[in-house]
Amino acid sequence: MTNAGSSWPAALPKGAADIMQRIVDNVLDLVPGAEGGALALPVDDGLEFAFCSGGYFPQAGSLLSPTASLAGLSMLQVATLHTDDAQADPRTDREMVRTNEMKSVICVPLRYRSQVLGVLVVGSTLRQAFAGEEVSILNGVAEFIASAVEAATAMSRVVSRSPGEPLAFGSAQASKVYEYVANVADPTLASRIELEERIGKVMGEREFSIVYQPVVALRNHQLAGLEALARFHPGPYRPPNAWIDDAHRIGMGHELELVLVEVALEASRLADPDLFVGVNVSPSVIIDHRFCEIVERLGSGRVVVELTENEIVAELDSLIGALARLRRCGARLALDDVGSGFSTLSRVVQLAPEIIKLDIELVRGIDVDPIRRSLASALVTFANESGARVVAEGIEHQAELEVLREIGVPFGQGYLIGRPGPLPVHLGQVDLMAEAGER
Ligand code: C2E
Ligand code: MG
Ligand code: MG
Repeated sequence: MTNAGSSWPAALPKGAADIMQRIVDNVLDLVPGAEGGALALPVDDGLEFAFCSGGYFPQAGSLLSPTASLAGLSMLQVATLHTDDAQADPRTDREMVRTNEMKSVICVPLRYRSQVLGVLVVGSTLRQAFAGEEVSILNGVAEFIASAVEAATAMSRVVSRSPGEPLAFGSAQASKVYEYVANVADPTLASRIELEERIGKVMGEREFSIVYQPVVALRNHQLAGLEALARFHPGPYRPPNAWIDDAHRIGMGHELELVLVEVALEASRLADPDLFVGVNVSPSVIIDHRFCEIVERLGSGRVVVELTENEIVAELDSLIGALARLRRCGARLALDDVGSGFSTLSRVVQLAPEIIKLDIELVRGIDVDPIRRSLASALVTFANESGARVVAEGIEHQAELEVLREIGVPFGQGYLIGRPGPLPVHLGQVDLMAEAGER
């Protein structure tokens, strides 16, 4: 026996390592009189005491001979081996016997299909501690333990494959077994896999469409631009940001956002070329050179990149660099949801957006709430001084629209003006006469 330091636990994802550790921890409760448990797993030159509990804990990482140890022989012979006096038994590993107090030892090979995956070792410091009963308990659970070990090992493959890559475990049935047991070890795994498949299908089969919401000049209700918004077809309905957040959680958000932008800009070529087209993107997408390339290829100099303020956390320098590149190819920046619970005005200063979009929360009830009105008014003053334009979002009532006009908000969008829909967009009936008398 040599101490090689642990290689198995480090090679496994946490969920898999946890299940291995629980196997050896729980075996102490399972087998009356057991004082130590170990999972000996194969490595290049023998067997490693990869996971240990109780009295075997100091032996974690030790290497055992494949032929001159009880565990090695158990694996070779594919047989449960039992000794009542490890010190006197010539089959045991000499060094293990010297450094470890265990006298009664049971070694159970862990068979999965035609393979032996490793050996479960259970020990007691007493001689003749185990009668036949303990051996049969261990033999009874060996099959379950073997499948748990196999699944935990396989989990590293499930977990570490790239998003969307299919599970390749031989047969569909084997994949199901792995998924099931791996999910016992890591309960989030099945939902992650399911999500990967759902989002992969949405992207691959284009199960989404893009709708456009009109943005008008509030003064004369003239169409100024469009905001592209995604709609995902699979039911039940969930808002687009929920789909996009899900995709980011499993590492597919970036690709999904790029696909959405590409489709949105491609389709918007049907619209009047004088209209700007707003696309919503995360900061990480802006930094991606492929986004810049899409904007260049399909944007015709009219793209407004809508960035949600609360998402800007890190990489401010590279974001500023990417924005400079985008501006060189004719895109403008809109800071979205300004005035929402999350927003900080420092971002407005740092990013110098051409457009500031007042969040729905700020617009809702602006006609009856003096605080909302004065905050919006302050943002208009700030925008005027910094050369930015203000777009108010979520205008639902004529009274809101009128207050926004009064405080000098030049542009707006909302259900009152037009709901998001396919191209060409349709404008709602806004009462322009209410304003006509004032100007
Ligand atoms: P957002 O960019 O702030 O978009 C405005 C949201 O307000 C849209 O919701 C729009 O349908 C909704 N809205 C417009 N007018 C009104 C109104 O008068 N009243 C109310 N109550 N709501 C109104 P939607 O389409 O559900 O999108 C929600 C968010 O999802 C968007 O917020 C945006 O952050 C994100 N999103 C939507 N499409 C995309 C996309 O293609 N890519 C990315 N990255 N994000 C997207
Ligand atoms: Mg937006
Ligand atoms: Mg918004």
